[in-house]
Amino acid sequence: MTSAKSGRGAEPTLKRDVALANLIIERFGLSNAFGHASGRIPGTNTFFMPTRRSPGLASASTLLVLDTEGKVLSGRGTPNSELWIHARIYAARPDVGGVVHAHPPACVCLTQIGQPHRVVHNQGGAFYAGVPEYERVGLIRTRELGDLLARKLGSGLAVMMRGHGITTALPDVRAATVAACMLEESAGMQLRMLAAAGGDAARLRAYTREEAGSVSDQISPRVVERAWEYYALAAEQRPLGG
Ligand SMILES: [Zn+2]
Repeated sequence: MTSAKSGRGAEPTLKRDVALANLIIERFGLSNAFGHASGRIPGTNTFFMPTRRSPGLASASTLLVLDTEGKVLSGRGTPNSELWIHARIYAARPDVGGVVHAHPPACVCLTQIGQPHRVVHNQGGAFYAGVPEYERVGLIRTRELGDLLARKLGSGLAVMMRGHGITTALPDVRAATVAACMLEESAGMQLRMLAAAGGDAARLRAYTREEAGSVSDQISPRVVERAWEYYALAAEQRPLGG
């Protein structure tokens, strides 16, 4: 993927991607005043992250550079207080190049009715291995809590955070953003199906493990490229709060 290019020449593209990722999570209703997306500077333990504002107000020219110890290395302004989510996931997962943290309503609702994410439509197949839940409520404002969250995420793509939101972690910020959008879409469908089934989870025709495995390629580079093209363009055209 283009955002995974190495060397300093790739930085303008990465900055643009990180800013767009933040816009996307706000414009598509995954977060409003809160939430943040970041992108690792390839081959380093540093990453681009926006300042402490709504993700809908992020811009490529005002991103900060942080390291995995939570230190601000460059840029003006204060980072988001949940910077530890990003810092400690990048520290624990050298394979991760993009992290998205958002507060999407359908995912939060699922955690609060005690329902794990289920694969209920094809695009949910990206999460066929299951989405673990971080049960502790409250924000991730310390290094220790960041490490706890990273442990709960394990080697997966996403973690649900009870009463709080989600965090996705993938090879680059585009994929992490698309995964966050897909997870919220999937959770929204699961909630609607549960409501239509009178709240009886047993009536849900959730995909079997085998069926879910057969549609597990929903987050392949080709899918990400196509979905990113759409989300990025639509986010740039939608108004703030749209
Ligand atoms: Zn949060």
